[in-house]
Amino acid sequence: MFFYVFRVYPSGHFSRLDYLCYMTENELNQNVEQGLYLPLMEAFYTLQGEGYHKGSAAYFVRIGGCDVGCHWCDVKESWNAKLHPPTGIVSIVEEAKKSSDTVVVTGGEPLMWPMDPLTTELKSKGISTHIETSGAYSLSGEWDWFCLSPKKTKLPTPEAYAAADELKMIIHNQNDFKFAEEQAAKVGENCILFLQPEWSKRDQMMPEMVDYVLKNPRWKVSLQTHKYLNIP
Ligand code: SF4
Repeated sequence: MFFYVFRVYPSGHFSRLDYLCYMTENELNQNVEQGLYLPLMEAFYTLQGEGYHKGSAAYFVRIGGCDVGCHWCDVKESWNAKLHPPTGIVSIVEEAKKSSDTVVVTGGEPLMWPMDPLTTELKSKGISTHIETSGAYSLSGEWDWFCLSPKKTKLPTPEAYAAADELKMIIHNQNDFKFAEEQAAKVGENCILFLQPEWSKRDQMMPEMVDYVLKNPRWKVSLQTHKYLNIP
């Protein structure tokens, strides 16, 4: 026996998340451990606001759970995975396919969970797979675009540096330029380098970032354009 579960978003629209079978807690936990179910915080169709693909439409899947602990994190509500319902990957992909051929998996820290089942399911439906990650956990999943955003509190794994198509360094203060250069020395030579101001410090750090990029033109500036556009 099963019944459907719906999620209502703040905007008022809703989507079917999954049909819920009668599963023991143990079975559900096993499914989460295997990446067949993921703690889904939210999913929505919008424009990618940041980095290389900014301005492109994509379906975002935000997975709960993160222990990296950035003090300026703007999605702290994602940290506790237990607050977000384990959701079957088949229904996540089913919903995504209705909106877009590109899915951006973000968090939280999505690599806390095994990502192979999700990316296999996405690719079986012809969907491009993008990830936004701190890279602090073991690499899993097959990614068409790998956006690495290292954090000082929990550094990326060697595999994450090697996989990075894009390095996105958040600039909160002057010291972050040095950290950005240290991280850039670890990625491949074709990795595209972005400096992005931490939102609450953007007015203070933007002039310094512009100056830095003029002097170091291998870097580009990334802005959180979705926040300027007032979209998710
Ligand atoms: Fe927040 Fe991302 Fe840092 Fe986790 S890694 S604390 S989700 S900014």
